Amino acid sequence: MTPITFFSPRDADSAMRLAGSGAQFIAGGTNLLDLMKERVMLPTALADINHLPYAEITETRGGGLLLGALAKNADTAYHPLVGKRYPLLRAAILAGASPQIRNMASNGGNLLQRTRCHYFYDTGTPCNKREPGTSCGALMGLTRQHAILGVSSRCIATHPSDMCVALAALGAVVHVESSKGQRRIDFADFHRLPGDTPERDTNLEAGELITHIELPPAEKFAAHSAYLKVRDRASYAFALVSVAAALELGKDGTIKAARVALGGVAHKPWRVRDAEQLLEGEPADAKHFEKAADAILHGAIGHGDNDFKILLARRAIVRALEYAAAGTVDNLHEQELQ
Ligand code: SF4
Repeated sequence: MTPITFFSPRDADSAMRLAGSGAQFIAGGTNLLDLMKERVMLPTALADINHLPYAEITETRGGGLLLGALAKNADTAYHPLVGKRYPLLRAAILAGASPQIRNMASNGGNLLQRTRCHYFYDTGTPCNKREPGTSCGALMGLTRQHAILGVSSRCIATHPSDMCVALAALGAVVHVESSKGQRRIDFADFHRLPGDTPERDTNLEAGELITHIELPPAEKFAAHSAYLKVRDRASYAFALVSVAAALELGKDGTIKAARVALGGVAHKPWRVRDAEQLLEGEPADAKHFEKAADAILHGAIGHGDNDFKILLARRAIVRALEYAAAGTVDNLHEQELQ
């Protein structure tokens, strides 16, 4: 058994001091406790940040929203302004996990959840992410769930979040704080590709605390968005491929602006801005959606078991864009009771 010292800081300065001395932040604990039980992560000190004042969801000037890092995923999904302005985010959150987990999981924790690569969790197998330099168990094993884009010879893991796929599409900004001050990180720069350092999932520095996630104004996409998640089970399963798609359409149906991000295919949510620009000024039809899909998937490679993901992703992108063009469906009718 590993002894753990548990702290309950009441303000951010205390929390950051604890982090500086090696404590691991914990909020909902929905991933960290699993990792500790599986002995993948073995912190000797935990700093429970649930008493910090970051659980609110507030409006920003100009029509955006500031999501507190400690707001629960469920509270975020069911917030009326999220539903009105960002139905894509609501749909993505509600596609993830289970009602029980969404009631516990925090927004900040969602960004920091770790890959569900089986080999990462199996401490009897090598894994460069868990133990740098030991090699990649997946590259010698089963790859059905693994990445097809942005991979390296060290790691082919995927990022497991649904929420983050919508945040990538919506161009969110992550606010962080540390003893050195505050900074903002564009969502595209928050998560990393594996490269030679797959042990690093994000560009957070040691001791930095996520305080908020800022959503820029995006009401222009509210009428035409869709989150499509393809998975092995109808619920409580991670995506094989997911697509967050949003369109702004002109009166004649021409695409004025487009956003597309993919989950389940890379070490981070995958967004290709050049592909979105291919759609702008064009009719919202399958021919142009296919062209964008090909641009998004340029350079995709399979590893045997996951070769099917390339065609699956292409079809899912086209389907999600077709759904978005047809109009946002309020998916609350699909939800289980909280
Ligand atoms: Fe580890 Fe990444 Fe390989 Fe999975 S894919 S075994 S997380 S190095």
